Amino acid sequence: MVHHARNPRSPYVVDIRELGRRPGSLLPVHRTVRAPQGVGLDVIGVQAGDELTLELRMESVVEGVLVSGTVSGPVVGECSRCLDPIQDVVEVEVVELFAYPDSATSETTDEDEVSRLTGGTIDLEPLVRDGVVLALPVAPLCREDCAGLCVDCGQRWDDLPPEHQHSTIDPRWAALAQYATSTGSDADVPKTKES
Ligand SMILES: [Zn+2]
Ligand SMILES: [Zn+2]
Repeated sequence: MVHHARNPRSPYVVDIRELGRRPGSLLPVHRTVRAPQGVGLDVIGVQAGDELTLELRMESVVEGVLVSGTVSGPVVGECSRCLDPIQDVVEVEVVELFAYPDSATSETTDEDEVSRLTGGTIDLEPLVRDGVVLALPVAPLCREDCAGLCVDCGQRWDDLPPEHQHSTIDPRWAALAQYATSTGSDADVPKTKES
């Protein structure tokens, strides 16, 4: 038995020894896995423990193993305009080359720019995490045209009548309004002539 540093029982770890190094050989990976902590942004993300669906394929290429396919799952968050809860699904295309340590790609690429294959397994968790995080909106909306909140009372515009307004008058105008009322100057306002 060969022991690897990675937890071989993690559902994100794929044993690729059966794939072999012959370019062109394929290994499909269809799995449902539980999301770890922290797959997402502050405002929207996958809840830890929720199910992510991996529809991936491992392809043996000259340089290493090319992993591609889709990751999908439920996300929850908060509308950035009206703060209503959002429930949605994310589906993201992922592609990543896990290069053999002795390959040209590995030797000509910076340490942190390429995933390296060590041992006979691939850990998909960083790929899944990064893919989902990059696909999420920084400012999620409950609807494309969410009207947000009234800045004065904080209520949702969707719940307010269209004529909703607050009669708070700027103090500088309030004095003027009072003056206009006391002098009856409203009467001096020229009327619009209509035929
Ligand atoms: Zn909203
Ligand atoms: Zn209001």
